[in-house]
Amino acid sequence: MRSPSGSLARAPALLLTLAALLGAASCTTLAAPPAAADTASEADGFGAWIAGFSKEALQAGISRATLDATLARARWLPQVIELDSAQPEFVRPVWQYLDGAVSAQRIQAGRLQRQRYAAAFQAAVQRYGVPDSIVTAIWGIESSYGAHFGNFRTIDALATLAYDGRRRDWAKGELMAALTIVDKGYMPAAALIGSWAGAMGNTQFLPSIYLKYAVDADGDGKRDIWNSIPDVIASTANFLAQSGWRPSEPWGTEVRLPAGFDYSRTELTLRQDSDAWAAQGVRGMDGQPLPVMRDASILTPAGARGPAVMVGNNFRVLLLYNSSTSYALAVALLAQQIDGGPGLLALWPRQIKPLARTEIEAMQLALNQLGLDAGEIDGVFGPATRAGLRRYQQRLGQTADGYPTQELLQRLMQQTDKNTSTSKP
Ligand code: CA
Repeated sequence: MRSPSGSLARAPALLLTLAALLGAASCTTLAAPPAAADTASEADGFGAWIAGFSKEALQAGISRATLDATLARARWLPQVIELDSAQPEFVRPVWQYLDGAVSAQRIQAGRLQRQRYAAAFQAAVQRYGVPDSIVTAIWGIESSYGAHFGNFRTIDALATLAYDGRRRDWAKGELMAALTIVDKGYMPAAALIGSWAGAMGNTQFLPSIYLKYAVDADGDGKRDIWNSIPDVIASTANFLAQSGWRPSEPWGTEVRLPAGFDYSRTELTLRQDSDAWAAQGVRGMDGQPLPVMRDASILTPAGARGPAVMVGNNFRVLLLYNSSTSYALAVALLAQQIDGGPGLLALWPRQIKPLARTEIEAMQLALNQLGLDAGEIDGVFGPATRAGLRRYQQRLGQTADGYPTQELLQRLMQQTDKNTSTSKP
């Protein structure tokens, strides 16, 4: 589970993995972090900050005993700040992310884990109506089935982020939630372990999510998402159910688009029932009718040259877990293959090189210079830039899929160069 981020939350991107932008090192090429600040003075400032925050926590009703056991021992972790400030230079293309996230080994391990914890999975399916393969897939992607859920002390990580991270208010809220977990006696402070970004345990719950959705399924009185797999399974299924999972619908399906399909309609915000898509010529891959889904969208994560999927409500629920289309697609495809189904049948355009952030900025600048409105020049390829690029492709008479390529960037650069030189006196 990833933290929200203002600009990114406004712009869920098709080819970008937001998880990558939010600093999940597993799916990015990280640029070198900035030079470390003066560690000694940072640590001094941290101590003063802790003292101030302890007063706030006391006022919020956290007991002094809990503060002594938690904040009084909190450590400032420079590594957390380095990870938080590292910006990916390249965002990996969706196919590279999927290669790692949905490996043959992870599919096989998922089947074994589902078998091993069959009773717990069956109980969760009955109670929450979420397929066991979906919960298994989230567990596999979040922590490789518990093999790697991070070894940061959550309170240290969140205190560090609340003191000088990029999203301090958010981190303060999560830190308060972590203190509440300890204060209420749900888990001891030492048990709260997870990622540098505050996500905890097998399926990476943030403390606020833990408070709302964690479940004691094995009946030992603790909601233990670190050591009890039945608790992990029920908690994850409960989160998805409470977030609006529809048991009657699949996550979606791979589709074949008709010739001449208007790619400006491939946005998550454009939703219609599967019947309407079928009436417009969208078909299943195997010639079967489309599954019955309400409010479905068509996505083409790699543009017109890659696979197309029809996704619905349950895909959007997966995006609440982590607001990256690549992530949600990985969970869906891993689940489908754990169930013995196929992966994507259409091929990814693996020959297309991803654009670096600086190249995306150059593309945004050029589109704006041509009056095509690519939105803010921020190096992030979101819906506004995609719409601007589609307008440019239309002008060229190309299929307007809004997928950024080196070739389109080159053409844009040449054209803006020409415009600039002809406008010179
Ligand atoms: Ca338990």
